[in-house]
Amino acid sequence: MKNLEKAVAKICAEYGNDRTRMMDIVRAVQVKFGGVDNEAIDLIAARTGTHRVEVESVVSFYAFLSQKPKGHVVIRLCNDVVDQMKGVQDVAKTLSTKLGIGFGETSSDGWFSLEWAPCIGMCDQAPAALVNDLMVTNLTTEKAAELIRALKANPNPGQLTAKFGLGEGNNAHELVQSSVQNNIKKTGEVLLGDVPAEAGLKKALQKSPEEVIAEVEASKLRGRGGAGFSTGLKWKFTRGAQGQDKYVLCNADEGEPGTFKDRVLLTERADLLFEGMTIGGYAIGAATGILYLRGEYNYLRPFLEDVLQKRRDARLLGADILGKAGFNFDIRIQMGAGAYICGEETSLISSCEGLRGDPKNRPPFPPQQGYLRKPTSVNNVETFCCVSRILDKGAAWFAAIGSGKSTGTKLLSISGDCKVPGVYEYPFGVKIRDLLQDVGAENTQALLIGGPSGQFIGAESFDKTICYDDLATGGAVVIFNKDRDMIHIAHQYMEFFVEESCGYCTPCRTGNVLIEKCLRKILDGQGEPEDIAYLQQLGNTVKKGSRCGLGQTSPNPALTTIKNFRAAYEAVLKPARDGMQPTFDLKAAVSDAEELAGRQSVSH
Ligand code: SF4
Repeated sequence: MKNLEKAVAKICAEYGNDRTRMMDIVRAVQVKFGGVDNEAIDLIAARTGTHRVEVESVVSFYAFLSQKPKGHVVIRLCNDVVDQMKGVQDVAKTLSTKLGIGFGETSSDGWFSLEWAPCIGMCDQAPAALVNDLMVTNLTTEKAAELIRALKANPNPGQLTAKFGLGEGNNAHELVQSSVQNNIKKTGEVLLGDVPAEAGLKKALQKSPEEVIAEVEASKLRGRGGAGFSTGLKWKFTRGAQGQDKYVLCNADEGEPGTFKDRVLLTERADLLFEGMTIGGYAIGAATGILYLRGEYNYLRPFLEDVLQKRRDARLLGADILGKAGFNFDIRIQMGAGAYICGEETSLISSCEGLRGDPKNRPPFPPQQGYLRKPTSVNNVETFCCVSRILDKGAAWFAAIGSGKSTGTKLLSISGDCKVPGVYEYPFGVKIRDLLQDVGAENTQALLIGGPSGQFIGAESFDKTICYDDLATGGAVVIFNKDRDMIHIAHQYMEFFVEESCGYCTPCRTGNVLIEKCLRKILDGQGEPEDIAYLQQLGNTVKKGSRCGLGQTSPNPALTTIKNFRAAYEAVLKPARDGMQPTFDLKAAVSDAEELAGRQSVSH
């Protein structure tokens, strides 16, 4: 047997030659051989009893996987908007010059690959790069040069942690050893203050599963990932769904540019999270939980695995948890591999099943048919942490915090033009004006609430509050001062969506490109007044015609800057051409693209 064949056989066997563990298998092959080439794809397909096209489609879908071998050291420099605001272009030049390669290239000796990454969860310490699994933050040109010098002397990023210092808290843990900072700037009474160990789980196990669900419902807890669906109701649906096998999935794929608060919970509140997942398992009747961890956070994996093992040792996971006869539950970690779309719950389920991260049609909804077509509750990291606290302190305690229908606290990841970026825990109902003062933001022009799929707001909204009924957010708040060009910012976010669209449906695949191109034209001084109506019509058409949350929100950077910063557009638009009427026909606009792609629009 050749080396490759032996290694693939061993890796596949480690995952039971199970096709649904394809993500783990191809990730392991990628790490060992720098790529998953045609031969490896054939071998994996044979071992897992699937078609090669299925393996190939997974490898081609995720940014961290490739058929062509990458360098032993892959440097992924984040080019999110905040990184660009903080000077990433100069860092990029230094990296490129010192390595002698451009972005998207691998050095001729096969040692280094240089790539852009759209978001690595470090906006509070930008510019940042992921070097294999090593996070290097607060990059300057000097630090970038030092990084390359060190890597050339010792091309093992894992041994360079000491060089960049260790972050606070568990970032300095022997199994993390990262220079990432938590940047917790405001603690609240639910999540980031003092949290007693396992108090919620112990109390939950004294109740019936139905009583646990009733407690969560009474707290009015809503999903913290952005959609805001009632957690208690979701659990009730999942518990009530037909079928023996049920699953608890935790979405730790925070890939929305500007969001990094789950990173801090994973680092500092891992037990609270796993406790919440265990309570979820008890409530819905699941024996298995899966933490879907974004590939960028692989540096936390050994630490999280260790926390899980310690929980097994303490009978907080496994059989008869805490002596509760018949309550068996365990958690495994499923790594992602660099795909923003996997933050969408049905895409995340596809990925856990070993497939491309394609969204699934709904209905059926995951509580009816989710992971492996079994009833599944997908909840966010912050949501599970809240559950543990609710079961400990009671629904009434939680419901008394916050404002109106938005109960509890919300973690905000705040970055951009402010003196004190970081993670802030506020009760729901905090006013934007107060938040700006706390973070040391001056001369503020705009805030992006909820990341690029959310909305840009201006000064007329600074008396609004963060809550589900006013300004809803999964957690990202990016601040822009008056020196920023809002059209340029909107264009950068549209570039992000063009890159991240999975391409399944035409309005999203093509419409976002057309929006991006129109914004580019305006930035180049070629915009005309009719472009505003064109962008609005196109944006609304994309939102209506798209299959999943990505396309349904991706035009927001253009639409909400037009709505709230229209003067910025009008200032750069040329006079209208005689006789031109703003018209938009999506079918005509995308027909060329359809022909090229060889597929038709999907109707919904
Ligand atoms: Fe894919 Fe976009 Fe369609 Fe969602 S809306 S399925 S991301 S093409």
